[in-house]
Amino acid sequence: MSEALLTVDHLKMYFPVQKGLLKRTVGWVKAVDDVSFTVERGKTLGIVGESGSGKSTIGHCVVRDYNAAGGSVTFDGINMADCKGRELQKLRQKIQMVNQDPYSSLDPRMNVGQLITEGPRYHHYPQNKETFDEKVERLLGLVDLNPSYADRFPHEFSGGQRQRIAIARALAMEPDFIVCDEVVSALDVSIQAQVVSLLMEPQRTLGLTYIFIGHDLSVVRYISDNVAVLYLGKVMEYTSSDELYENPLHPYTKALISAVPIPDPVVDRARERILLKGEIPRPIDPPKGCNFCTRCPYATNECRGQEPEYREIAPGHFVACHRVMEGGGMRG
Ligand code: SF4
Repeated sequence: MSEALLTVDHLKMYFPVQKGLLKRTVGWVKAVDDVSFTVERGKTLGIVGESGSGKSTIGHCVVRDYNAAGGSVTFDGINMADCKGRELQKLRQKIQMVNQDPYSSLDPRMNVGQLITEGPRYHHYPQNKETFDEKVERLLGLVDLNPSYADRFPHEFSGGQRQRIAIARALAMEPDFIVCDEVVSALDVSIQAQVVSLLMEPQRTLGLTYIFIGHDLSVVRYISDNVAVLYLGKVMEYTSSDELYENPLHPYTKALISAVPIPDPVVDRARERILLKGEIPRPIDPPKGCNFCTRCPYATNECRGQEPEYREIAPGHFVACHRVMEGGGMRG
């Protein structure tokens, strides 16, 4: 059995809603509400969901940008909430995050060489034989950019190239784990595949572990070993990537998958489509019972009154739905 590098256990992240001059707390946005998963060393966990589902908040909790309101994040056997000072700094070296927006994540006043070496210089990395210039050259090669670009500035590059620089910058810290937060969402479709392949190569050679956050199921499937489907801060379904796409059980997952275009027009026309009604509810005002009940075509009174339990329906396949039965069928 593979070893879990990251364990997220009943994670909760609530943000206060404040009003008035005195900023009185009048409510809470439950951005992440009781989320659990593990990521095995050398593997990729995909997290999919619509905007507002809490995907990025999970990423920020994992890199300790936020202190969780409840639950725990354990990295390589260390509970991150217990880490302070140098230990936390060391842990943060090991866990890097690459964000969606390559335009804002790179300081426009720094050239590429400075951007890539900023982290190692700041953390006074011992440079095992390799000079900073050699490091820049190696990393630019790794992300398929010409080493001569080291003296150029971010505005001289396209979106895809900037995202490559952001990845090289993360790799410069010699991490074990990278949270990729919508890293290809802002890029042209033709560039997306290149950037995803680029992430897969160092995973193979350096044994990196990833969380890959996205909303495009076909991209997430391509890179992920396991996938968690998130809706309004809760995991609706979790299983292996192949199982999720071949045998989706949760009505929300089925709806998402039925919306992914299939290249063969005959197959595309013949398959059942589940159309979602309306928008995802506001996290400050989630529905009672099942979070998905306001849009679910199978919702019953039970769904509107009682939250479904998150259960293991088949080995390694977890679902939060009243109507999905053991083995996978839908209860009538
Ligand atoms: Fe739909 Fe009910 Fe299942 Fe929620 S619990 S997904 S509302 S059938």
